[in-house]
Amino acid sequence: MTDSGAPAVTPSAARGRAAIVWLLLLLGAWGCYAARRELIGRFFRDGQPGAPPWPERAARAPGPAAAAVRVVLLDGLSRAHALQLPVLSRACAGGLELAVDVGFPTVSLPVQAVLWGGRTQQQSGLQYRIARLDPPPPDMLPARVAGSVAVAESHRDIVHSFGFAQVQPPLARDDIEAAGSSWRTHEFAAAAREAIASAAPLVFVHVLRIDEAGHAHGGDSPQYEAAAADADAWLQQWLDAGPPGARWWVLADHGHRPRGGHGDAEPEIRIVRACVLGGTATGDRSATPIHLVDVHRELADALGLAPVDDAPGRPLAQALADPRPEQTLPRPGGGAWALAACLLAAAAWVTLASAAARRLAPWSVLSLGSVLAVHGAITLSNPAVYPPLGAGVLLAASPGFVYLAIAFARRPSARAVVLALALPLGATAATAILAGVPASLWRPAPPLVPRASAWCSVCFTVTGGALATVALAWAAVAAWRGLQAARRARG
Ligand SMILES: [Zn+2]
Repeated sequence: MTDSGAPAVTPSAARGRAAIVWLLLLLGAWGCYAARRELIGRFFRDGQPGAPPWPERAARAPGPAAAAVRVVLLDGLSRAHALQLPVLSRACAGGLELAVDVGFPTVSLPVQAVLWGGRTQQQSGLQYRIARLDPPPPDMLPARVAGSVAVAESHRDIVHSFGFAQVQPPLARDDIEAAGSSWRTHEFAAAAREAIASAAPLVFVHVLRIDEAGHAHGGDSPQYEAAAADADAWLQQWLDAGPPGARWWVLADHGHRPRGGHGDAEPEIRIVRACVLGGTATGDRSATPIHLVDVHRELADALGLAPVDDAPGRPLAQALADPRPEQTLPRPGGGAWALAACLLAAAAWVTLASAAARRLAPWSVLSLGSVLAVHGAITLSNPAVYPPLGAGVLLAASPGFVYLAIAFARRPSARAVVLALALPLGATAATAILAGVPASLWRPAPPLVPRASAWCSVCFTVTGGALATVALAWAAVAAWRGLQAARRARG
């Protein structure tokens, strides 16, 4: 096994070189696995506080305060489903209908941190936060309202993160999380109703069954629909119980993919339905989404509180008149795009410049096509992006791996390895740059960019799988040749 054009070498030297390449292939496969684990681990780290999405400060003159504020968050309810709920729609028709862009990532705790804290995910650095904020940040609205009350159906870490004066259920009640717990089946809705009916100036109710059904069965499942219908029925009881003069926000924090999952910036996941009821303008203003930071501003006004100094939310009329679509989303800079394009162009040139490379290259198209066909769009909302080994993606990419193994085994060489892997290696490097991986190496900046982060994870998986495939194919060829040689020696 020698590179074409290489000087003649002895069989033992060729075997030595093949062994080195073989070890490098295994090392590369392991490196892809380890780098991807590191990448995904970094998603969940808090970042440094960042710049606001626009430089202008919002007008300081506050809107009118409300006698009481009631917020109902229907976790995981897609806008398309919310528009079908009869109670919510009836209520909304008598109030103000809005579409709200929750920003990125579309993950429950960070999205609520925007609602209560007024800064975008990138501004606060709370981007893909799953763990409870302990202690809750003191500048969150609930921490600034004496007697604020929250009631959550499950996932207590979220509701205990924002400084409500009273929270149900308490952190100590582990029993509530189990499906079918008495809290979920008998206590929650009644406790929420009681809190809503109380004189508390701020009551928050966090419904989670819709999100749970989305994860377990998908956003287009009957279970998801049933959970949304449950929430809609509760909403009727809760609206009936509200104190006079209360201002209500009924909204979601993100939607769900039809097959379940959320986290990335797809419009159908990122833009949710929000209804404001009581003592506010009425009408349907959902044609252009406002930002969740704008909703925070409205909430702060209703509670008679000033937003924190760097909160970018605008008064509603201004937010509606100047919607600034997608301006809260992080995006790669011009330098990152240029570097990524150069890397991809170089990989494409290597692949297209020789007949041998063109013979091998279809494997990557085949792998990518079958991954997309099996798992759907590659985004952080797709659960296939996260598992430790990426087995689902590897399995889906296997038709390409089979092609690669056969094409490579016919003419195995170190040069063929380079030619076969140039494109996936280039794509992995390009997506890593677009996802902000270089910045995350030297400062606390999670590599989270819409789409690019998910593609980076999948590129690592497929490239690692290809390296392992070539190593296996090469070992099989060597074994076969050894067998043939032994047979010849015996014969
Ligand atoms: Zn969820």
